[in-house]
Amino acid sequence: MASGVVEIYVFEYVERDVLESVASSVSRALGLEVRRAGTLSLPGEAFDRTRGQYMAEAVTRLLAYSKSEQSIGLLLADADAYVPGLNFVFGLAIPELRVASVFLKRLRLWTDRENYVARVVKEVLHELGHVFGLKHCRSRGCVMNFSNSVFDVDRKCGAFCRSCVRVLRERGLEVRGEFVI
Ligand SMILES: [Zn+2]
Ligand SMILES: [Zn+2]
Repeated sequence: MASGVVEIYVFEYVERDVLESVASSVSRALGLEVRRAGTLSLPGEAFDRTRGQYMAEAVTRLLAYSKSEQSIGLLLADADAYVPGLNFVFGLAIPELRVASVFLKRLRLWTDRENYVARVVKEVLHELGHVFGLKHCRSRGCVMNFSNSVFDVDRKCGAFCRSCVRVLRERGLEVRGEFVI
């Protein structure tokens, strides 16, 4: 039985194969039910004109108002975003609101289509890991390892190390073997 529902929202346009890979990986990796929830429009106040980037926290907080109460809200945004103190982020989770965003613009850089999709899936699993209480992991291959660049994203695999899996299983998630390092 799935121990939760993830509602996927989209900002701008996200290709069908990306959505399908994300949906299938999330349901297989974490045993969660995935629903497509439609598009989210972002208000102008969430955009920082001087930087040309969205404010990741403002954007992610918006999800909490859109999703249904019991669900986890996940936004895939074809945008670039930052948090104060960092030039950019690939994603952001706000665990207490059960919401997470992944920003696609930079994940598309310097790679082919197949690896781009793999990067998106890794960052989605990473942010959902935060939603379920995981912190950054020191195991370099673990998907919960912090990524400073797309090359860091490429270096880690799309699976959780054993100690991260232990935490997820304590939270009632069914992590499949193929998503355990
Ligand atoms: Zn993180
Ligand atoms: Zn780990």
